[in-house]
Amino acid sequence: MRQWNKSLVWFRRDLRDFDHAALHHALVRSRQVYCVFVFDTGILEPLREGSLTFDRRVAFIHDAVAGLQRALRALGGELLVRHGRASEIVPALAAELGAEAVYANRDYEPQAVARDQQVAEQLHADGRHWQVFKDQVIFDTDEVLTGSVKPYSVFTPYKRAWLRRLHDDDLSALTPHLVESYKASFACPAEVFRLPCPSLEEMGFASAKPGSMHVSNGMGGGARLLQDFGARMQHYDKERDFPALDATSHLSVHLRFGTVSIRYLVQRAVDAIRSGEGGRGAQTWLSELIWREFYAMILHHYPRVVEQAFKPSYDAIEWEQGKEAARLFRAWCDGQTGYPLVDAAMAQINQTGFMHNRLRMVSASFLVKDLGIDWRWGERYFARRLIDFELASNNGGWQWVASSGCDAQPYFRVFNPITQSKKFDPEGAFIRCYLPQLAQLDNNAIHAPWQAPAEALAKARVQLGVDYPAPIVAHEEVRQKTLARYAVVKNWK
Ligand code: FAD
Repeated sequence: MRQWNKSLVWFRRDLRDFDHAALHHALVRSRQVYCVFVFDTGILEPLREGSLTFDRRVAFIHDAVAGLQRALRALGGELLVRHGRASEIVPALAAELGAEAVYANRDYEPQAVARDQQVAEQLHADGRHWQVFKDQVIFDTDEVLTGSVKPYSVFTPYKRAWLRRLHDDDLSALTPHLVESYKASFACPAEVFRLPCPSLEEMGFASAKPGSMHVSNGMGGGARLLQDFGARMQHYDKERDFPALDATSHLSVHLRFGTVSIRYLVQRAVDAIRSGEGGRGAQTWLSELIWREFYAMILHHYPRVVEQAFKPSYDAIEWEQGKEAARLFRAWCDGQTGYPLVDAAMAQINQTGFMHNRLRMVSASFLVKDLGIDWRWGERYFARRLIDFELASNNGGWQWVASSGCDAQPYFRVFNPITQSKKFDPEGAFIRCYLPQLAQLDNNAIHAPWQAPAEALAKARVQLGVDYPAPIVAHEEVRQKTLARYAVVKNWK
């Protein structure tokens, strides 16, 4: 195995100092290890709107980077932080430090792949080495393939193959104490390299106001969430669809930015299954973690899904266009559709940057199948708002709802927003939390206020069209329109 005198670890969406593939391999193979994080203007600039933009993701990353810097300093190292074009900064820094190799964890999103390609080419041109490792998934995009060595396009056989392939080594290869034992290898760069971490304001972003993040930050936040969820995991299968319950893990943002380790999460699920304590809850949760890898695998093999339907025939669908479509879309974004569960869901994403999975399905279905609006509009809106935005899962989720994705729901399945509301928020607890103007309605009226008797509305002090909108479309009517719209895909299997 080749050994280096000096290497540089480039942290990206893996903001932790434990169970970290690139850091592990760099420490094992190098006498001195430098670490860097770059606030990449290639990613940040498109997020800016006006002078100081508040973006929860940037605030989350900023906080996590500060936490990682403290953790690496405690180990005797340093995290250099830069702001600029990562594709230029990383090769230049490697040259200045005299690092023979740059270590990073593999990123699968098309833009990141292109950026890494550029960095690798520059490093090679300079006579340096580019070393990438699998870290954000258990199995890489070509490690779970069909018998004929093709990517799976149906989840259940993919999951079976994934589980068959899983061995203890896949989870425990990186010993948690390695960083501690190799800490003498952390290099403390000369003062000249240690520029102060840029503030959010210096990068054009606003700091989070107290209480506006709605998420526990950093490695410590991820660890706490996992610990809390451990006690609820066994009930996950029964409770996960009810948005008023605190039944899911809330770890998506931590998986997104790598403040938790996927190996450790899967290990927890597997331990709970093996011990019998996790029951069906742990099995279902593990399945969700596998969905995440399924969608990452699909995006890698079919990068065209970013713009196009996975099933090409679905691109023949004619979506609503023009001013009326723009008005309906705005009402959906603003949570003004008149369907309380959809509006409460949109209030959740707008106020907190998170949306419960069941509600992502209900609100996405409403946009596509009740309002007849192209799923790509909704996908972009979620991408802008979600703190846990993940291109592969977001695209997969939207295409699942729109029926255009791989292993998606059939096109004729149209969620009824009232039935969904009665089933998954039976007492209206979630709706009441996000739509306080409806809080006084009784449990029957709250799911469809326009169907409530006038006395019930008056008693609850709700005036439709004043305190809360009347429905912008009639579900049953638009359902028929949707079936007609989707008729172009009938022959697709
Ligand atoms: P848990 O229920 O605790 O699940 C554990 C983890 O499994 C999640 O953190 C996530 O990493 C993964 N997971 C769970 N459900 C799914 C799923 N259906 N697909 C892929 N991975 C899953 N998830 C994102 O991480 N980022 C997105 O941008 C995103 N956009 C979505 C858009 C739509 C329209 C839909 C229907 C789903 C989307 N999801 C997305 C999947 C899912 O809604 C979230 O992962 C989940 O709500 C996060 O909450 P949690 O961490 O409490 O999840």
